[in-house]
Amino acid sequence: MKNVPFLSFEESNKTIKAEILESFESFFDNGWYVLGENVKNFEQQYASFSQVDYAVGVSNGLDALHIALKSLGIGEGDEVIIPSNTYIATALAVSYVGATPIFVEPDTDTYNLDPNKLENSITSKTKAIMPVHLYGQACEMQAIMKIAEKHRLFVIEDNAQSQGASYNGKLTGSWGDINGTSFYPGKNLGALGDAGGITTNNKELAQKAAVLRNYGSEKKYYNEVIGFNMRLDECQAGFLSIKLRYLNDWIRQRQEIAGWYNEVLKNFSDLILPKVAENSTHSYHLYVIRTNKRDELQKHLADNGVGSLIHYPIPPHLQQAYKNLGFKKGDFPIAEELADTSLSLPIWPGMTIEMIEMIADIIKSFKI
Ligand SMILES: *Cc1c(COP(=O)(O)O)cnc(C)c1O
Repeated sequence: MKNVPFLSFEESNKTIKAEILESFESFFDNGWYVLGENVKNFEQQYASFSQVDYAVGVSNGLDALHIALKSLGIGEGDEVIIPSNTYIATALAVSYVGATPIFVEPDTDTYNLDPNKLENSITSKTKAIMPVHLYGQACEMQAIMKIAEKHRLFVIEDNAQSQGASYNGKLTGSWGDINGTSFYPGKNLGALGDAGGITTNNKELAQKAAVLRNYGSEKKYYNEVIGFNMRLDECQAGFLSIKLRYLNDWIRQRQEIAGWYNEVLKNFSDLILPKVAENSTHSYHLYVIRTNKRDELQKHLADNGVGSLIHYPIPPHLQQAYKNLGFKKGDFPIAEELADTSLSLPIWPGMTIEMIEMIADIIKSFKI
């Protein structure tokens, strides 16, 4: 039987190889390697894709979130609400600006920030809410925006996993004051290396972000603020412009694959399949199932040549890096339960229904 890796670029790369090589050659011959036409063009294209006025290309997703927080003036003594079951980057960005991440538990069906639990965690120090559209599913943005407005809080979407998803027809990355996304290779829109982006409808914030990513400088050698070197590479911007044209098609493939999984895995033992909230769409960056025998099932899949990963085995509040926050096991039981039971199955453009059926047969041959 043929192995199925957790992630493969083989099929999607085939589609774009000629264009990528052509883009590389023109980038190489052009001789302008940092902040040039490729970045400018990609920013316009990504803003248009995201239905926002401005996009700013940066070095990676973590830096995008960091710059977003910084351009809002969030810092020392401030609190930022984030989900308890996110990737560590969301929390790190908050820590980088000197603010404190405040964890709020997710909804047990969607795994996204539960708007009903938000208000209990808002204090006089709260400055912003950072919803994470986890695994590719849009958060309940209308309810979150309403609470943010009521308490005069900024909203910064962590859109790293969900380019192309929407809530009530409005795209993720277009709701918040300023939002960050990641073009890490495995994300829905992935570069050939590290890259990230910021989206906003606010001209002033877009300008601040563009200045912050480039040494705090708008005019060369005139530095207005203490900025960073967090620029998007010209060659990556060129590659991203090409891949962006295929993004909607690749998301449709992800959704089709998720549909196959839903069909072949339904009503099997204690497996919990992804649930999509009303008014929300899922771009299936990841297809995450849950079972109490997660570790055994992962081993069984590996023994049969199928790759899988855990997103994520340890929630931020229990990470060694955050031991200073003083949390212990049991403090965020939903996040901990998800960490213990979640398993991500392979999902990538080019997967066939035969592969999905084979994976389902392997899962069903396991006595859960
Ligand atoms: C990938 C990811 C990031 C960070 O992106 P990088 O490009 O790896 O820095 C941030 N938040 C979430 C939820 C992510 O999945």
